[in-house]
Amino acid sequence: MAKVEHRILMRIGEVALKGLNKRRFVRQILENVQVRLDQLRPKFTTYSSESRLWIEPMDDLAGTEEYMAKALDIACKTFGIVSASPVLKLSEADFADVKAESLKVVDHVLEQKKEDNPRKKHWTFKVEAKRGDKSFPLTSPEIGRELGAHILRNYPNLSVDVHEPDFYIYVEVRDSFYLYGAIYPGAKGLPIGTGGQATVLLSGGIDSPVATYMMASRGVKLNAVYFHSFPFTSEEAKQKVIDLARILTAYTGPIELHIVNFTDIQVNLRQHCPSDMLTIVMRRVMMQIAEGIAHESEAKALVTGESLGQVASQTLEAITTTNIVVDMPVFRPLIGIDKDFTVDIARKIGTYETSILPYEDCCTVFVDKHPKTRPHLQDAIDAEEDLDISDLVQEGIRRRDILLVSQAEVRTIKEEDESDL
Ligand code: ATP
Ligand code: MG
Repeated sequence: MAKVEHRILMRIGEVALKGLNKRRFVRQILENVQVRLDQLRPKFTTYSSESRLWIEPMDDLAGTEEYMAKALDIACKTFGIVSASPVLKLSEADFADVKAESLKVVDHVLEQKKEDNPRKKHWTFKVEAKRGDKSFPLTSPEIGRELGAHILRNYPNLSVDVHEPDFYIYVEVRDSFYLYGAIYPGAKGLPIGTGGQATVLLSGGIDSPVATYMMASRGVKLNAVYFHSFPFTSEEAKQKVIDLARILTAYTGPIELHIVNFTDIQVNLRQHCPSDMLTIVMRRVMMQIAEGIAHESEAKALVTGESLGQVASQTLEAITTTNIVVDMPVFRPLIGIDKDFTVDIARKIGTYETSILPYEDCCTVFVDKHPKTRPHLQDAIDAEEDLDISDLVQEGIRRRDILLVSQAEVRTIKEEDESDL
């Protein structure tokens, strides 16, 4: 009796490997996938073999269709993976077993095809065979022909098209037989953890979640800072940011979210600086607090969702005036990108619907009707004259809650210490 097991095959891009240490790359992907799988109830394991990566279910629940689909989704959202396939692995098997099992794969593909296009009654397919084990008596074309003929005998509504088939059935002969009928696109990019660590200023808007996703796709591990001004900004506004962080964790893995209690600082700024410079001064303070938090967590850069010219505080002059207060590089992956394109990405990664919920951001609370759009550095220095900025920055760094946000839960790991006040 053949042994039939479910696996998920994950492919990595050879291009991405150029210049990088392949073993480290592979190890990091496996670790990132495993961390996410460990948040599911059933147990899975991950391993690499012959330069391909695999997920294996370790108990009955893990092997069910429901959980294999979840594992596939995790694989496809893990950066560094180019594509993934649910695979049947047949061991202690002969070619008759392969033929029998291939019909299950066809059934599965057809189910999907019928769902996609209920009116279509006839499909074409092609068997792609690969013989890794050269001692196997049939050549790859022979395997393809035999299996194709067997499938044709069993499905009157199928025919073969070797040029442009509606679907492929893949069979590989290696240490075991492997059968699959679908290749799902992965998140591509580089595995998180290979690109260093950065701190993102995460608001509840459309842009900063997309900026987070883009930096994560280059292998950067992120933690996040959110400036909260209760009661000027509501509990809902804060919850929205937590929800966004949670959506992002499907791609980034667990995120440490630092929620800075910004109310007193903001009130102080409003009282002591000219209203047309308030947004700029506030942003300068935010950057410095974020940098302080980044230092503590060993992040080496900041990330924002700014896009050139989008609002008054994102002109070249305004960005220059806020950038100058920090020493770390500030990455702005959306700087040259149109809002439409950002929205497309936000929809794709699933943050858009949450981002457009109508809760106010602290940037908009005391905003001046005519903010200076082309501030000079001297304007900012003058505006800060009556303020002890470094004191406010220290206060911001101190007055924060830290949450650990993951797919499974949101856990408070530090609460603002009242005795600090
Ligand atoms: P977003 O859609 O990301 O909110 P935005 O287009 O609304 O961006 P601004 O409000 O000017 O632009 O903010 C620019 C950037 O500053 C944001 O992308 C984000 O990185 C950061 N930022 C703004 N407000 C906050 C906040 N309350 N907490 C943390 N970061 C913030
Ligand atoms: Mg905003």
